Amino acid sequence: MGERHLPFKRVLLKITGESFTIPGQHGIDIDRLKALALEIKEVHDLGIQIGVVVGGGNIFRGAIAAQAGMDRTQADYMGMLATMINGLALQGALEQAECDTRLQTSIDIHQLAEPYVRRRAMRHLAKGRVVIFAGGTGNPYFTTDTTASLRAMEIQAEVLLKATKVDGVYDADPMVDKSARKYTELKFMDVLKKGLKVMDAAAISLCMENEVPIIVFNMTIPGNIKRVLTGEKIGTIVKKG
Ligand code: UDP
Repeated sequence: MGERHLPFKRVLLKITGESFTIPGQHGIDIDRLKALALEIKEVHDLGIQIGVVVGGGNIFRGAIAAQAGMDRTQADYMGMLATMINGLALQGALEQAECDTRLQTSIDIHQLAEPYVRRRAMRHLAKGRVVIFAGGTGNPYFTTDTTASLRAMEIQAEVLLKATKVDGVYDADPMVDKSARKYTELKFMDVLKKGLKVMDAAAISLCMENEVPIIVFNMTIPGNIKRVLTGEKIGTIVKKG
């Protein structure tokens, strides 16, 4: 078999908590989880090194609980633990699919996961293991989008893949405004200036300063992770101008 040219060798995939469940529902849907794991395994089998940052929004979001009166810091720690549940779920599903995986966390839970150690993460990646990063940044008032940017820099990923439920970045909300147009390409600065909903500003700024492009794409369409990683132009790419 001839060697296939792939656009990226090492990537950071950000999976929002919503990808673990059926739209509009909470918790974890086992069929979706299995499908997610198979899609990751499929690209991993191509020889791509993959780090995954998992969100926790399908279980708990600190900011929303704070709006309802909860102490924000306490709520954010609960959110970070929610990412740990998703991380464990994904690790289990990947291993059932026979994909070698390590789970690292920025909040110590040593019975369940390795602590986040960058050098160790790099070694796992080099050895062909999918590395899942749970626990967010380990700090309240942050998001897993910012975690994804941070880990993308740290593992020197060539691209950050932001998997969402829409097929890219639009100039208006496509769910509300039928005339909304999708961008195929955007500059970091335009995302910030126009206040476009790609990732939070901290996450965008980190990628902008360090020139790591972001590809926003729809994860609810089966096969899309592979399409992006084999060079198909789907979604929206955000890059340096
Ligand atoms: N969180 C946090 N610090 C971090 C990352 C996450 O406090 O560095 C908390 C925060 O409460 C957030 C929750 O964890 O609402 C779940 O993460 P996020 O909302 O980013 O998940 P996603 O939207 O990707 O499912």
